[in-house]
Amino acid sequence: MLTQYRADLHLHTCLSPCAEEEMSPLAIVKRAKKKGLDVIGICDHNSTRNVAAVCQAGRREGLVVIGGIEVCSREEVHILCLFDGEQSLQEMQLLIDQNLHSQNNPRFFGQQCLCDEYDAVLGCETKLLIGATGLSVEEIVANTHRLDGLAIASHVDRGSFSIFSQLGFVPEGLQIDALEISSRHSIAEVRRHFPKTRGYPLVRFSDAHRLEEIGVTSSIFTAHAPCVMELHKVLLGEDGREVIN
Ligand SMILES: [Zn+2]
Ligand SMILES: [Zn+2]
Repeated sequence: MLTQYRADLHLHTCLSPCAEEEMSPLAIVKRAKKKGLDVIGICDHNSTRNVAAVCQAGRREGLVVIGGIEVCSREEVHILCLFDGEQSLQEMQLLIDQNLHSQNNPRFFGQQCLCDEYDAVLGCETKLLIGATGLSVEEIVANTHRLDGLAIASHVDRGSFSIFSQLGFVPEGLQIDALEISSRHSIAEVRRHFPKTRGYPLVRFSDAHRLEEIGVTSSIFTAHAPCVMELHKVLLGEDGREVIN
């Protein structure tokens, strides 16, 4: 049976240096539930290492959590990569570890906290997570698909770190699954100002870096289950599944 799921699949935790410390696993889950979300996605910059803690907090509190990562390509394009399985997340993490090399300076960039499901801080990531990886947009998308994930171009209506701001277009043949738009523009405005979005499914997520931003914008997915495999079919519009923005 098709069910409507309200989803905000682009949330950062306190592992992202630009996110607030309050973005801890349990606090995120509680806030998302309060906002009426059915499913959230965790996409820290270039790391999956807080995903497991948020998933565990979600399981305990009764909220579906999808694991992901927001990878910064070597062209400085942000791509959301979402996965169903822990194995896929681990393989993606390995790929990022091999392609990210700068060290963090917390005084300039902020702390990058690794947490457990009860919000205790277990340590800090020492690599700088907001830098560009050595991976091209094509490599990120291809590897995401190899690991059965979904690749969504982040905040395409923003003037920085978006596929349009960095490349000017979606490269021919790039198998991107959807384009994310921010809360700043309506769908009609985006289609008008960014005509190159035509032909791609659009989704709206909050890109929350603070608790109060969670669920500020979201998409509703009509699907059989709140998972990446179903979401893939939603974006293709299979058998009555759809995105409602
Ligand atoms: Zn981003
Ligand atoms: Zn983001």
